[in-house]
Amino acid sequence: MNIIKKQSGTAFKLFKGQKLKVIDPEGMQVSDMVLFNANDIGEKLSSGKTLDFEETILVSTNNYLWSNRCNQMMQIIMDTNGRNDFLLAPCSPETFKIMYKFDDYHPSCFENLYTNLAPYGIKPDDIPTAFNLFMNVQFDQDGKIKVLPPTSKAGDYLLFEAKMDLIIALTACSAEDSNGGTFKPIHFEILDELV
Ligand SMILES: [Zn+2]
Repeated sequence: MNIIKKQSGTAFKLFKGQKLKVIDPEGMQVSDMVLFNANDIGEKLSSGKTLDFEETILVSTNNYLWSNRCNQMMQIIMDTNGRNDFLLAPCSPETFKIMYKFDDYHPSCFENLYTNLAPYGIKPDDIPTAFNLFMNVQFDQDGKIKVLPPTSKAGDYLLFEAKMDLIIALTACSAEDSNGGTFKPIHFEILDELV
């Protein structure tokens, strides 16, 4: 079991056929995830292609995550909570300045993604829209968006299968509004065997 401490992140490789289980151990905690092709970092996760090909904005069990080059990167094998977001960009220092009028330093998913991805040669401008696990974004018929606390309970998880060799970055999100006002860790496991 690997632990991502609150308001932090990590990056690692996952090879084709391996599975990744991402767990919300305490409940109500968002985790941002981005994916890159481990053999060519110009290929990366695409929200637009995923929403297009999967014909949904609520990506969950049995959906695929697609790349900017229209290849399948992962399949979601299981999603015990069933509510994730694929619309909003990772929270960044500017998020806290512009939306929350927060002047001091504030940890963010964006910083935690690009600092952990730097050893792989991935730069801040390369970070795509993240797949936001457990994030509860609601939208009205007129398009108005609201970020509500996650519906995930302690122990909820998503299980993914890699469809290509991947570099993955994962966070425990740092935004107050996305996590019901508190910050918790995220756990993950890499599984080689069928589960
Ligand atoms: Zn965040």
